[in-house]
Amino acid sequence: MRAFVIGNAALDETFSVADFPAPGASIFGTMLSQDLGGKGLNQAVTMARAGLACRFAAAVGHDARGEEIARRLEAEPLEAHLTALDGVASDLSMILMTGRGENAVITTREAASAVTPAMAQAALEGAAAGDLLVMQGNLGAEATRAALLRARERGMKSVVNPSPLQPFFADLWPLVDIVFVNEGEAAAFGGTDALLEAGPREVVLTRGARGAALITRQGRIDVPAEPCAVIDTTGAGDCFMAVTLASAAQRGGTLDARALAHGASAAALTVSRAGTVGAFPDRAEMARILAT
Ligand code: ATP
Repeated sequence: MRAFVIGNAALDETFSVADFPAPGASIFGTMLSQDLGGKGLNQAVTMARAGLACRFAAAVGHDARGEEIARRLEAEPLEAHLTALDGVASDLSMILMTGRGENAVITTREAASAVTPAMAQAALEGAAAGDLLVMQGNLGAEATRAALLRARERGMKSVVNPSPLQPFFADLWPLVDIVFVNEGEAAAFGGTDALLEAGPREVVLTRGARGAALITRQGRIDVPAEPCAVIDTTGAGDCFMAVTLASAAQRGGTLDARALAHGASAAALTVSRAGTVGAFPDRAEMARILAT
């Protein structure tokens, strides 16, 4: 089984600030890190580190940030297809972290929203029945729909994490097999029962420090979070989802409590460290987690 991730790629720039700037203010900050980011990229890199063969497709601009994203991705064990588009800037997230542990994030989506339906469908070239399509909320409605339709045609299993929340997902649920949502996202779509009615056969609900649940028409399995000292929760949901999917995929493809427990262990390691991709477990840590 292979995973095809179509989504966004970005550079995350994290600054430490005493407090968020008030309107009109100019403040000092310290740059803490520059790291790979973007939900699509986060999930693809994490699945690959967890041993699942992964192809990642995203758009960047013809600029230094796009080159930096490509250079850093070369160190990861995945097949990356970055399309450099004319006239758009590569995406970035600016993350402000205060001494009180709060953060605020500004994300651009110029490159991600320039992905066309044709590009999204071309990214699934070579995919076979049973392969996974993994998508998030950063692409436009038409590109997202086109990829989900092509995945159906090819007999792939489609997995969606509707974050950032986009109203268009409500029309796409019949094309989705598995959905990963946090509690806010689940509520926005009318709750987990409504999601199961709308199309997906499996809903994975993440509840932060309160753990996660696998919900199907047959019932619900709750899995606790792993207690840890929290430093930075950025990317916890992406890491949890990717490791849960990779764990299941490498044991026959069925989501189960063990897969969610593997996701929880990896996410706990991530939240106990600063950064995004740099905080995700590396390949040796993944192997240890998946062996439990
Ligand atoms: P984010 O948007 O921050 O990436 P999310 O809202 O998509 O996250 P969460 O439900 O916050 O997802 O977290 C996903 C998983 O990560 C949880 O189910 C849990 O296993 C783990 N996790 C998150 N926060 C904590 C925490 N404080 N302590 C331990 N585990 C955590």
